[in-house]
Amino acid sequence: MPVLFVGHGSPMNAIESNDFTRGWQALAARLPRPKAILCISAHWETRGNFVCAASQPRTIHDFYGFPQALFDVHYPAPGDPALARRIAGMVKSAKMEATPDRGLDHGAWSVLAIMYPQADVPTLQLSVDTSRSGAFHHALGRELGALRDDGVLILGSGNIVHNLRALNYRDPRPTDWTVRFDETVRSRIASGRDAELFDWHALDRDAALAVPTPEHYLPLLYVLGARREDDAASFHNTGYFSTISMTSVLLA
Ligand code: ZN
Repeated sequence: MPVLFVGHGSPMNAIESNDFTRGWQALAARLPRPKAILCISAHWETRGNFVCAASQPRTIHDFYGFPQALFDVHYPAPGDPALARRIAGMVKSAKMEATPDRGLDHGAWSVLAIMYPQADVPTLQLSVDTSRSGAFHHALGRELGALRDDGVLILGSGNIVHNLRALNYRDPRPTDWTVRFDETVRSRIASGRDAELFDWHALDRDAALAVPTPEHYLPLLYVLGARREDDAASFHNTGYFSTISMTSVLLA
């Protein structure tokens, strides 16, 4: 099974049709049908590491100020408690706990509602301990990479560049640092220099603007951790909205 990082952007993508959602549909069409999906979303930040073991994960509407239509979206994919317990047991580089007290946040369902609208693939989420180093997340992703052999789609959901404070809602044109940082990250991935991405602060003089907080960046490191030597990297949805990059990365 390939590995995928998706730039999710606005939750409104769940109920819109635009170039980005069409890009997600095209990505889903390229993938073999997954037996399960393990989503590492920017929107489940924890201290410690958790995997969702709910048999029927609820849809979490973790935002405000959006139209009612978005709060009406429910994504009823089943969970897979047995797989969650297996994941908790297979991780050795950190303590991983399976918890039933969690559903799917919009980092997961806003993308999956487009990629797998039937909601018929068992879906799990992994939390992100944002206090840990880039190398830690990459190592965790490497361990999880074994799941690829069982048809599990490892799906990182965040944004390589994500700065809401500087976002200009009236002007979607990207800032120069948004483009530059995204291109820098893509060039490192394309040339296999993944280790240079562990310390994102050192990547660019404007890294503090591109990644002001790490939660949207870190899911990428899980995906790169699951990378194998014979994987080719390709980039999709390489577009921007002001200070958000929508780039997706497919390793297949
Ligand atoms: Zn987000």
